[in-house]
Amino acid sequence: MKRILLIATGGTIACAKTEGGLAPALSPAQLLERVPDAQGFCQVETLQALNLDSTNIAPAHWLLLARTIQENYQRFDGFVVCHGTDTLAYTAAALSYLIQNTCKPIVLTGAQKPIDQEDTDARQNLLDSLLFACQEESGVCIVFGGHVIAGTRARKTRTKSYNAFSSINFPDLAEVRDHRVVRFIPCAQTGRPAFTHSLNTRVSLLKLIPGLDPAAFAALGGLCDGLIIESYGVGGIPDLYLDQLEALVRSGVTVVLATQVPQEGSDLSVYQVGHRVKERFQLLEPYDMTLESTVTKLMWVLGQTRQPDEIRQLFYTPVNYDLLF
Ligand code: ASP
Repeated sequence: MKRILLIATGGTIACAKTEGGLAPALSPAQLLERVPDAQGFCQVETLQALNLDSTNIAPAHWLLLARTIQENYQRFDGFVVCHGTDTLAYTAAALSYLIQNTCKPIVLTGAQKPIDQEDTDARQNLLDSLLFACQEESGVCIVFGGHVIAGTRARKTRTKSYNAFSSINFPDLAEVRDHRVVRFIPCAQTGRPAFTHSLNTRVSLLKLIPGLDPAAFAALGGLCDGLIIESYGVGGIPDLYLDQLEALVRSGVTVVLATQVPQEGSDLSVYQVGHRVKERFQLLEPYDMTLESTVTKLMWVLGQTRQPDEIRQLFYTPVNYDLLF
């Protein structure tokens, strides 16, 4: 029987009612008790890494999870991380960069309703995740609502429905249906795992809105080494901000010009408003990468180098299906 490590971090899946609203309470052993069928196909050990509403998850927690998985890597065939859904897509993307070339499945899951609620999706998600972690699979992924999504491609697109996650600009890797895995994308990423233990968290996001005060560029730029500017459509910078952008780039901030449109990605070469800044300021663009992946990849890249050529090379090297262009 496959040996699986179940790592709990809190989230709705482990929540109980309190006077002040839902709060994480159940231990991973208690979660496991709620899916007795798992005993039929795997041996599970449990570990409580955190017990947080995922609103409180931060990069230090991603590093803790990567280290926990590394420390247990040899002893287990697969890993299931129970996590709140709110920032689950960021954690899945971060783990995709921190743990590369893994030949063992690292599955993140959660639920929209606590596991002890009658109409919960938690028991099915947990059982599906344990089942998927027992397959000859590889890489970091999310199993949720029957969908198996690459760790770099997920986004929480619904706040209440059971199918809370979508795979953005990329198909689902697989589905879990009636206790069977149906694969759509062949397994990749096997080899010796490569763990990284540093992130540069001085990364920020500036979302443009019509009429935004130009001073926002310097205000946010002063706080970071990498700034993602979410502009419009396939991407461009309004005339009003050209001087601010130039000052930012000259100060040494790595600028990524992204789009706030969720589907299909950026292409700065199309319009003059994009073309003129990409060439002149050597901006990076995410193309079809999700925001969650762009943020965590930039933290991972800047944690390793500040050399512009190396930043560019690492940023554009595909990891766990994050980038097709
Ligand atoms: N606020 C919860 C969390 O992210 C929501 C959930 O888990 O669904 O921890």
